Amino acid sequence: MTPSLSGARRVVVKIGSALIVDTDTAAPRAAWLAGVTADIASLAARGVEVIVVSSGAISLARRKLNMTGARLRLEEKQAAAAVGQIRLAQAWSEALAAVGLTAAQLLLTLEDTEDRRRYLNARATLSTLLGLGCVPVINENDSVATAEIRFGDNDRLAARVAEMMQADFLILLSDIDGLYTADPRRDAAAVHIPLVPAMTDEIDAMGGAPPPGYSSGGMRTKLAAAHIATKAGCTMVIALGHQDRPIRAIEQGARCTWFLGAPEGRSARKNWIAGHLVAQGSLTIDDGAIRALARGSSLFPAGIKAVAGMFERGDAVDVLSSAGVRVARGLAGYSSADAAVIAGHRSEDFEALLGFRGRDEVIHRDDLVLL
Ligand code: GLU
Repeated sequence: MTPSLSGARRVVVKIGSALIVDTDTAAPRAAWLAGVTADIASLAARGVEVIVVSSGAISLARRKLNMTGARLRLEEKQAAAAVGQIRLAQAWSEALAAVGLTAAQLLLTLEDTEDRRRYLNARATLSTLLGLGCVPVINENDSVATAEIRFGDNDRLAARVAEMMQADFLILLSDIDGLYTADPRRDAAAVHIPLVPAMTDEIDAMGGAPPPGYSSGGMRTKLAAAHIATKAGCTMVIALGHQDRPIRAIEQGARCTWFLGAPEGRSARKNWIAGHLVAQGSLTIDDGAIRALARGSSLFPAGIKAVAGMFERGDAVDVLSSAGVRVARGLAGYSSADAAVIAGHRSEDFEALLGFRGRDEVIHRDDLVLL
């Protein structure tokens, strides 16, 4: 059965440079942006949370800086991104404002999605923005990223964002309407594949060789994105982006390729928290807090009676009942020192106690597994 966006809750949309940047004028394509932001507005009106991952920074600045060679050196890319990102952000801000939405820019590096502490930071910011009804527009922080610490392509960045935010769909808007058995531009016998139920070696082999020149995408990075997204339980779709209302077109049944999210994907992260991390400490909580956790709540400091061990934000900790029984495990949102200070207190008091406002919960429910 073909999946559909109709039940979507949270969607990441990845938009490539070729879509957003007009090759003749080297400026953002305002008319196309108006169409895609109209699509985003209609998703938002249905209560869907939308996160955009947009390329285009480097490409928007190349001509202005006379960087016209096929391949740019790393320093040139960094400089071009610094110039182009401002234009890109402005284009998104204006286009989203025109449909009544507020754009919020985030520039991420690989470490922001790999390092557990920074991951929590990026995720908390994105959650807050979504809660405020904003549309986060993300790009790689190309101006500070070096070769070793670069994603280099936004397909994988978008997949990491989808994984981090537990999005149910990742839409890759592309210059091709999906995956073919071979590159259809070179092989007339290539056959379009509408549905990929699971990633296999055979599917990977269809990715072919990386594209020449500057272009960082191509089918290979899209398949790498599919591995990340589907493993996290997120369904991914590759669809043609060039038309006027590309997301609506997907909803109306345009030709594309769906990669089904692995059914066990949703629980993979929780299994990882429960089974593969060594707890660095523990939080003993009262009975009211245990009942709240059982109802699916986050762990708030008001219910914490004692803090043991030494841990940093992002470390795994055990959650114990007053009798010392392990009831849950999660990733701490505070260090042991700060958790001890706010234990038993309400969020209104955090600032006075810690000197900063901090987050309301000590373990967010997405980072918590009941045992
Ligand atoms: N981050 C790059 C940019 O904005 C694009 C990376 C990609 O094309 O995937 O220019």
